[in-house]
Amino acid sequence: MKANEILARARQEKRVVLTEIEAKQLLMQSGINCTDTRLAATKAEAVQLSEQFGYPVVLKVSSVDIPHKSDSGGVKVNLKNQAEVEAAFEAIMLSCKTAVPTARIEGVSVQCLAKPGTEVIMGMIKDPSFGPVIMFGLGGVFVEVLKDVAFRIIPIEKSDALEMINEIKGKKLLEGYRGQEPANIPYLQQMLLNLSDLVNTTPEIQEIDMNPVFVYKDGAVVVDARIILASV
Ligand code: ADP
Ligand code: MG
Repeated sequence: MKANEILARARQEKRVVLTEIEAKQLLMQSGINCTDTRLAATKAEAVQLSEQFGYPVVLKVSSVDIPHKSDSGGVKVNLKNQAEVEAAFEAIMLSCKTAVPTARIEGVSVQCLAKPGTEVIMGMIKDPSFGPVIMFGLGGVFVEVLKDVAFRIIPIEKSDALEMINEIKGKKLLEGYRGQEPANIPYLQQMLLNLSDLVNTTPEIQEIDMNPVFVYKDGAVVVDARIILASV
């Protein structure tokens, strides 16, 4: 679906939250690489998509009412065959319905398991005084505990993107450590520019959260994304 169709459908359904699938479609159209992620409404569809993608796959609950999917038991990774996909589908449905009884669940999203990389986050928030601000940081404990995140006002230029990456305290982790491959910095720079362009050309987006993004020697991929629209 085209970006404007995704936004129009959300508006029509009177919701400001996009699903992971919709968010990744929007990002992909702005040149931001995401795992190809498809919706399965039933267990049989989940198996069919998994066979198409090839194992191992990841299943996640697809619901605009469940923002933190793993907290509700809504994420199952590294599923290696049909039986594991079927069991994961049932487990996800059961625990999500228990965790959030009122949630509207449209099914599960199916995607390939991405190979491990250095985890970073990218996003955008709208600051009451500065307007849209882009953020970049290292994933996991670095953002949650250490708040090691760089911010810039949008739009940014290529030099701003590089500055953001360089000012992270944990920058060394992007240079490769303990056998982990170094991160492709120019690729990350371009991703930040693409994100800035998307925000600049789509004022109806209120917030973007890409967490995590896996970074490699030869590129990067967004494995989870969340987009919130401005309420009208
Ligand atoms: P949430 O943040 O809503 O709990 P995520 O989609 O971020 O859910 O999934 C939780 C974790 O599962 C991620 O932080 C990541 O480590 C792992 N994960 C999710 N999708 C993939 C994927 N396609 N490949 C590999 N790991 C994944
Ligand atoms: Mg996440």
